[in-house]
Amino acid sequence: MKMSQMHIHTLREVPTEAEIDSHILMLRAGMMKKLVSGVYNFMPFGRRVINKMEQIVREEMDAKGAQEILCSALHPAELWEESGRWYKYGPELFRLKDRADRDFCLGPTHEEVFTAIVRDEVSSHRQLPLNLYQIQTKYRDEKRPRFGLMRGREFIMKDAYSFDRDKEGLEKSYDDMYDAYARVFTRCDLNFRAVEADNGAIGGSASHEFCALSAVGESEIGYCDDCDVAATTERFECVDDPEDTSEMKEMADELTPECKTIEYVATYLGLPATQTLKALIFKAEGNFYAAFIRGDRELNETKLINAINVPEFALEFAEEAEIEALGGVAGFTGPMGLKNCTIIVDSEAVKMKNLVAGANKEGYHTLNVNYGRDYKADIICDLKLVKEGYTCPKCGGKVKLARGTEVGQVFKLGTKYSESMKAYYRDENMQEQLIEMGCYGIGITRTPAAVVEQYHDENGIIWPVSLAPYHVVVTVVNIKDETQMKVGMEIHDALAKEGIEVLIDDRDERVGVKFKDADLIGFPVRITVGKKAGEGVVEYKLRKEAEISEFGTQEAIDTAVKFIRDELVRLGHKE
Ligand code: ATP
Ligand code: MG
Repeated sequence: MKMSQMHIHTLREVPTEAEIDSHILMLRAGMMKKLVSGVYNFMPFGRRVINKMEQIVREEMDAKGAQEILCSALHPAELWEESGRWYKYGPELFRLKDRADRDFCLGPTHEEVFTAIVRDEVSSHRQLPLNLYQIQTKYRDEKRPRFGLMRGREFIMKDAYSFDRDKEGLEKSYDDMYDAYARVFTRCDLNFRAVEADNGAIGGSASHEFCALSAVGESEIGYCDDCDVAATTERFECVDDPEDTSEMKEMADELTPECKTIEYVATYLGLPATQTLKALIFKAEGNFYAAFIRGDRELNETKLINAINVPEFALEFAEEAEIEALGGVAGFTGPMGLKNCTIIVDSEAVKMKNLVAGANKEGYHTLNVNYGRDYKADIICDLKLVKEGYTCPKCGGKVKLARGTEVGQVFKLGTKYSESMKAYYRDENMQEQLIEMGCYGIGITRTPAAVVEQYHDENGIIWPVSLAPYHVVVTVVNIKDETQMKVGMEIHDALAKEGIEVLIDDRDERVGVKFKDADLIGFPVRITVGKKAGEGVVEYKLRKEAEISEFGTQEAIDTAVKFIRDELVRLGHKE
């Protein structure tokens, strides 16, 4: 393909809207173009990358016996009402009405649609197991669309749904998908980790997130170097400090003026933060919740949300007046005498003795507050957010933290949707049974962005061969020189014949511009045809290496073909 005949629009300047490298570089390389916040158009190079991503996913899904379908993005509200998510999905759901005033949404995910299909079309155990998937555009009205393809409001996802007769079947489907995902991300050359993930109200340790490691990633993971424990911080189980067995002392109120945060209180009273009890008051759906946790710990909101079972979007901090109505005082709230709210206490805080807590009196804290004697909880559970250095729940080692970008997630749904949406099959004895489901997503547009985040330098993208928009660019230094153009075309044609995806840069531009574009767009191999073309000598350079070699024409062709093929094999592509 001749670059002179292509639509190429690269940018020298850093677009102001972009903050992270992958976003900046994909815009600058002309891969994509913003339409409106969180919504992008894919331009020719970007489209090719997305096509490759789709193809990798398709091959790995098909290899596990999953079947591709394509569903609509437009969903009737009734389906979402059946599952209870019309309300629960909250403001992230793009809702709209048709001319007859009927409610619809643009699908952010497709559990409802797939469950409805299978409910209608599957009735016998003989039709199971079944795994259906699609590669399709999703819509989510994200609170903070940002980082380009990382968090869009419109994005492409591969979503698969497995349908099994029983738990063992689901186990197998889940393992198959886990395995397929590991292969997909390996083929993308990503440095990733599969970690245990939160799965909200569904329960169990039945979800894994695939995270591409990245300092700018929005997921945080905790892991242990001494054993295999690895989970998102949302989900990470925290170990309580051992029970304090000291004697309970008598409670006493103490004046603590201006001490509105637990750090101030501890400093003012000359106590460690571990001797304090911190209060966080929330509201959701008209109800109030008071969470208590030791002063040195941080509250994990996901654990709280799971404990009280409210939708994430609904949870917010209570206002001062509302806290007062519960019997508390903002900045001085403690557990004693609080009313009209659910009290959730961290499992560790209940084991501590003689803590300092708010006195529910302006300017006062109470000394020697003890669980059981002085206050009670409606719910006791782990509410702690893991921190670097915390104790590993499995082996007692030290926890480390890392950041990553979630590129995929696998879930065991069990019968959550088959139950609410009545998806049954008949077993061998003609008995109706609920279908066991799993769901599995991959960010088709987010993953290449995560790849760019790991593979770039100050000059541009360094695509792994598996995702590169083209494998090789043949850069002709002077297009007016007939020999150079002839040799360039010969190399181009020879590579194309070998099945290599090759471009010839025959644009009427200075060679510096061509090199800059080639580096920016990130073609894995560059063959430069210049002054020595007449002697049959060209330059060969890998994007990921600085070294430039002089090769004979044929040698350059052979080396490029071998490099591309070897790379694809290394990444696990079939020959
Ligand atoms: P996140 O926690 O990042 O919001 P999620 O857990 O809501 O993601 P899923 O519902 O599990 O996402 O969706 C499956 C996959 O779709 C994710 O692993 C991710 O790769 C991709 N994805 C989700 N939301 C977005 C988005 N707003 N923009 C681009 N890709 C997304
Ligand atoms: Mg997820």
